[in-house]
Amino acid sequence: MIIRDKLENLNRHGDNWIARCPACASGGGDKQGQHLIIYEDGKYGCAAHSKDKEHRREIFRLVGQSTPLDPEQKRAFIRERIKRESKEIHRRKLETALQKKRASIITGYRWTEAEVLADSPSEPPQDPRLFIASLFPRSSVVWTGQKEHSGTWKDGRTFPHHWQTVDAWQHHQPQNVGPLTAPCTWPTGTMNRTAANVMTSPFVVLDFDGRNGIKPKTPEEIAAHIADSLAIIRWIREVMKWKLAAILHTGNISLHAWFHRPALAIVESVKAQSAILGIDAGLLTNPEHPCRLPGWTHQKSGVKSRTLWMQND
Ligand SMILES: [Zn+2]
Repeated sequence: MIIRDKLENLNRHGDNWIARCPACASGGGDKQGQHLIIYEDGKYGCAAHSKDKEHRREIFRLVGQSTPLDPEQKRAFIRERIKRESKEIHRRKLETALQKKRASIITGYRWTEAEVLADSPSEPPQDPRLFIASLFPRSSVVWTGQKEHSGTWKDGRTFPHHWQTVDAWQHHQPQNVGPLTAPCTWPTGTMNRTAANVMTSPFVVLDFDGRNGIKPKTPEEIAAHIADSLAIIRWIREVMKWKLAAILHTGNISLHAWFHRPALAIVESVKAQSAILGIDAGLLTNPEHPCRLPGWTHQKSGVKSRTLWMQND
C-alpha cells in the first residue's frame, strides 16, 4: 500500500486520491502535483507512465509499504508457495525426462516417408472428398472451407453451405472441398465453427509444426523435422497404443496425424508434453480448429498437401 503521509499535494477526488507522483518528482517532474492516482481499493498508478512497470516499482520503493500479513495468511501464503515450487520441480523433471525420451524415440522409431506410404493399410486418398469419406460416416455433417467461412460477416454474409454431409460433399468438384476441414461432426444447420456447436469429435489431430515454437526453415531443417515427426507418430501409435487414422503432409512444414480420440485424461497428458513432442496443442483439445485436406497447394511453399497414410474402417 501507499503511505499517503509521504505524498506531496495529496487531494481527495471522490473515492480516489490524487497527488504528486514521487517517481516523477524524483526527476523534478510532475510540478503540478497530479500524476499519481490512488484508487479506493489501494491500487495506484502514475497517469504519465501508466504502462511503465519500472515506474510503478519506483513509486512503491519511494512511498510504499508491504501490507503486514496475519499469521494465518502468512501460513497460507507459504503453503501456496511450496505447492507452486514442487509443481515446478516436477514439471522440470518431466521435461528433462521427455527431452531424453524424445531423442531415443527419434532414433528408435524411425519411419521414413517411403516406409509410411508402403505401410499404409488403405490407398492414401489424394482427393479431399475421399479423405473425409475415409474418415467420417456418409451421413455426418462435416465443415470444409477457408478459415473465415464461418459465422456472420459484417456485410451480413453467412456460410451454411460449408456444412454438408460427407455424401453431399462427394457431389462437389474437389477444388470446392477444402482447403481446410475440422476433425469433428456438426448438427444440421450449423453456421458457426465454434466449440459449443461441435456434435462429435471422433479424432484428435496432432499438428507437428515445429518444436518449442521454433519453425524449421532450411530444406535440411524441414526434412529433419518431418523425419522426427514421423518417428514420434510411430511411437505414439506403437507405444502409447493410440489408434492412427491418417497422416497428412500439409505441403509446407507440418504433418497432421489423425488419431481416433483416446480418453480425455490421456489427451491432457500429451497436451502437457506437446511442446517437447513438437505438437501444436491447440488442435488437441479444440476439435473445431481447422486442419488441412489433401490435394490443395500450400500458399507458402507452392507444394500440394498429400495423404501419406490412411486406414478406413
Ligand atoms: Zn510518475
